[in-house]
Amino acid sequence: MKCLVCGKVIDTASADSKTGETAFGAKEVDPAKGTRQFHDGEWYYFDTLACRTKFMVAPQRYLTGKA
Ligand SMILES: [Zn+2]
Repeated sequence: MKCLVCGKVIDTASADSKTGETAFGAKEVDPAKGTRQFHDGEWYYFDTLACRTKFMVAPQRYLTGKA
């Protein structure tokens, strides 16, 4: 799985374990371990909170070809 924003490869297992307790993205994660965001019926993974924030501000910008 790659970061949708910058293309960096993410350890999704770590991202899942860090965010498993919340249904709509994690508020408290280790930014070095990756994170994810639930958007439009799917989980999207990001390597950092900064990348996730960029996605949340303008998701359509990173989802060209879908919707
Ligand atoms: Zn990224």
